[in-house]
Amino acid sequence: MPKGFHFSQRSVRHLLTLDPELAAVARLALSLSRVDFTIISARRTRAEQRRLVAAGKSRTMRSRHLNGQALDFVPLDPTTGKGRFDRALAIEVAVAFLDAGIERNCPVRWGGSWREFEDIPHIEMRRPLKRQ
Ligand SMILES: [Zn+2]
Repeated sequence: MPKGFHFSQRSVRHLLTLDPELAAVARLALSLSRVDFTIISARRTRAEQRRLVAAGKSRTMRSRHLNGQALDFVPLDPTTGKGRFDRALAIEVAVAFLDAGIERNCPVRWGGSWREFEDIPHIEMRRPLKRQ
């Protein structure tokens, strides 16, 4: 059983840009998850979001990344320790996020279960959007 995962400095920098409730969910998720992970994207500027939409990597300018209410993660392969966009590994992390969201009373959804645009790295808060 893996124990004691710690966020990298890069992950921590991303967490600091998030809504504090989602950051707390992410910290709890890391302590619950069977698979280590890194945060690779969190709050985005409108310019960053526009570039991602233009590149086909995001679908919307109404993304919760703009409000700090979404993050993207990459699972770390338990064998190599390197990031790997693998659905089975991502499910382990996503389950930890879903459990952590319930425990913190801050429910989240996972983009990997979306039917129209599968977004495996994506986690976002479910509650109504706050004003910016
Ligand atoms: Zn995302």
